[in-house]
Amino acid sequence: MKIAIASGKGGTGKTTVATCLAQVLAETGLRVRYLDCDVEEPNGHLFLHPEIYESKPVTVPVPEVDREKCVGCGLCAKICQYAAIACVKKKVVTFPELCHGCGGCARVCPAGAIREVGRGIGVAETGRSCKIDFAQGCLRVGEAMSPSLIRQVRDIPTGAELDIIDAPPGTSCPAITAIRGADFVLLVTEPTPFGLNDLALALDMVRELDIPRAVVVNRHEDENLSARKFCSERHVQIAAEIPDDRRVAEAYSQGLLPVIALPEYRPYFLDLWANVNKLATGTPGKEPA
Ligand code: SF4
Ligand code: SF4
Repeated sequence: MKIAIASGKGGTGKTTVATCLAQVLAETGLRVRYLDCDVEEPNGHLFLHPEIYESKPVTVPVPEVDREKCVGCGLCAKICQYAAIACVKKKVVTFPELCHGCGGCARVCPAGAIREVGRGIGVAETGRSCKIDFAQGCLRVGEAMSPSLIRQVRDIPTGAELDIIDAPPGTSCPAITAIRGADFVLLVTEPTPFGLNDLALALDMVRELDIPRAVVVNRHEDENLSARKFCSERHVQIAAEIPDDRRVAEAYSQGLLPVIALPEYRPYFLDLWANVNKLATGTPGKEPA
């Protein structure tokens, strides 16, 4: 089973939920793997403290033009949807940072002047944190092609029974790449107007992907029922409400897993897992079009 932990915006506590869930489930004997696909800012390692066994460079194929063979026809520039290759006055210029590695330019080149070479975009790392298998992607600073790296992290073979995917925040390509193909998505939100606004966008994204889903309300306050009202109106289940507790923030700031620093929080995550199992096998609820 693959569960993606996502959020419409950063700072909702997505990594806290993902790492705590991995920890409590691994303690039950389940073979769990935590995958940090928030490759622009992977921080699950700060809490799980894994020992990294392997670090593999990840590349994307980009075109290299043989100027001797090029006849200046411009077909490569014409087919490129990302303006990553241009032909000016019969001279070809490439912009590797914009290239999505689709291979289209090499295919249309009538002179066989284009070959693909690998461009490094980051590393995919694997390791182990006590009972948890660990994988993460680290994107090079300034690099924009995070989906390629996310795909490679997700494709790392595993013997785990459960993959917990820590997805990038937001609703753009990186988030979709991390979530696509998951069996269930947990959307972590905070009960603020900003949080709920971005939750609405994230819900739309997951609904488009047609993946069963539920919400985790982080920093829940008994007197603030805005998230419950929102989820009831959108016909989406709340799988857990994690209380607003300064001690959780203190543990987080010290690089400690809240479920280890504050064992009274373990039942929240065990209940969350029970709810996910219930919802994953049932109907996620009909949302308005
Ligand atoms: S590989 Fe695709 S994206 Fe890259 S330059 Fe060629 S056509 Fe453009
Ligand atoms: S398609 Fe090939 S031959 Fe034509 S401009 Fe591009 S590199 Fe040159």
